[in-house]
Amino acid sequence: MAIGDELVGGFTLDTNSHWLAERLRLLGFPVKRITAIRDRPQEIVDQVRRELVDDEVTMVFCSGGLGPTPDDRTFSALADALGRELTVWEETRARIERRVQRMHEAGLLDSPEVTEGNLRMARIPAGPAYVFKNRRGMAPGVVYEANGKRIFVLPGVPLEMKGIFTEELEPQFLSEGSAATVRELRFTFAVEARFYPLMKELEQSFPDVSVGSYPNFETKELVIRCLGADPKRVDDVIEIVRRRSAQLGMAVAKPAASA
Ligand code: AMP
Ligand code: MG
Repeated sequence: MAIGDELVGGFTLDTNSHWLAERLRLLGFPVKRITAIRDRPQEIVDQVRRELVDDEVTMVFCSGGLGPTPDDRTFSALADALGRELTVWEETRARIERRVQRMHEAGLLDSPEVTEGNLRMARIPAGPAYVFKNRRGMAPGVVYEANGKRIFVLPGVPLEMKGIFTEELEPQFLSEGSAATVRELRFTFAVEARFYPLMKELEQSFPDVSVGSYPNFETKELVIRCLGADPKRVDDVIEIVRRRSAQLGMAVAKPAASA
């Protein structure tokens, strides 16, 4: 869940979701959907509730809307969605105080006082399962548990989001997964429609391997990408695609394989 008017308004590209989706796939936790929503409390509440009742979803990742200004509303909306009070998280408040102090000493801030805006970032829904430190900024990252799911709330600033994820979240919460195997074949000037019968057939005979066709109209390359839990099955599919496309006279550009 990427939260921010700037994302939905077409000002800022949602690189956080793209980055998270790749990391999560590689860690063995494939993403079911990516949503981008505005900084509107009711829309945030609605989306959180939708995720919480989805049986297929075990983890929800939110980024954005944790800043010091009134247009960032994620924590208060989340408190509503979870039916919890907003409380000042003392550890985060103390970190913010120390950070403001350091920034003041470095001449980056006029006053060593913690402002109302700074304090907003320490005001989080009560009863977090865990609070991340965030070495790179003031907003914390926070984990909640509800409906048997984990909700990870992360800052929108990409550097902070990635820092918390790789240094704190991943080792603690995502070490148990096992990644799917991914193999690709690239064709030049291949006609996508010619893969139709083969892909239909593979859907039947290899339901455990997902086969996707991704044309790139700039490079004139067509990528056939196969993904599955069992490397042997994925390799079998790739071999079939390779053999059959050769029979159809289509040239493989690069026998690229990626994991
Ligand atoms: P926020 O946590 O909403 O205050 O976000 C702070 C800044 O991070 C924004 O001004 C954006 O430039 C950036 N940002 C927020 N969300 C995203 C996202 N999903 N992808 C890329 N940049 C983002
Ligand atoms: Mg924002």
